Amino acid sequence: MNLVELLQIASSEEKAEGFLRERGVLKTFDSCPFCHAKNIGKIRRNFYKCYKCKIEWSVRKDSILEDLKVPFSKFILAVKLFILEVPAHKSHKELDLAYNTTHKIYTKLRQCIYKFVSKDDQLLSGEVEIDESYFGGKRKGSRGRGAKNKIPVFGILERNGKVKVEIVKDVSAETLLRETIKKVKRGSLIYTDKFKSYDSLVMYGFKHERIDKSVKFANGKVYINGIEGFWSYAKERLLKFHGVSKDNFIYYLKELEFRYNFRDNIDDSLYKCLGGIN
Ligand SMILES: [Zn+2]
Repeated sequence: MNLVELLQIASSEEKAEGFLRERGVLKTFDSCPFCHAKNIGKIRRNFYKCYKCKIEWSVRKDSILEDLKVPFSKFILAVKLFILEVPAHKSHKELDLAYNTTHKIYTKLRQCIYKFVSKDDQLLSGEVEIDESYFGGKRKGSRGRGAKNKIPVFGILERNGKVKVEIVKDVSAETLLRETIKKVKRGSLIYTDKFKSYDSLVMYGFKHERIDKSVKFANGKVYINGIEGFWSYAKERLLKFHGVSKDNFIYYLKELEFRYNFRDNIDDSLYKCLGGIN
């Protein structure tokens, strides 16, 4: 949905509420969520009540909006600005909201994406590229494996498919193999560079092709441009968030994985995430 269409919906709270309900972001109860009695009704603008157990609940119950105090219309605009990669320190002005409120919305969106992405346990297969890269840290420009203060990230990309990334404690053969076995179907053809941690892939039932990046980046089909492309995509975007803390880095990383995998249909995919929250 483009911005013009969205502005129509955001022009009234009622339309915005309907929009969020259709997508499952706001939950629709056909019985009391506490005692399951069918005898329920709307009592005030944003509240329902069970006439059996007398408990009342908000229209926001069990949704991402439950402890957000923003109007529905502003929420859907905030989601759009998030999709458009407008950082919270800029979008809060457009939304006429406090920075903290916008930051809270963005944080919840990222947590929701993280949850959604983490649930996907489908194995990657076919032709797969694996590689590690380093993020963050103070020694800007330092390169190579073992860079100090940097966060090692392991990436797996299925050609014409999805990418999956994970923060790893180190880039030892043991760690990288364990991650590969967890995420890639045995028998798949794996492309790597010459890093020694990948030496024993064949012993674990994978086919393995290597590329020496220092000699030639692409040699027929033996290349790892796909995963390299993801690293540049991710690093370029992370530059915008000056100094993401180590604790929050995983949420930004998973957001980038999500954006990359669903880049052709990001709006619907994000609402699918939001609708899945309980
Ligand atoms: Zn009840």
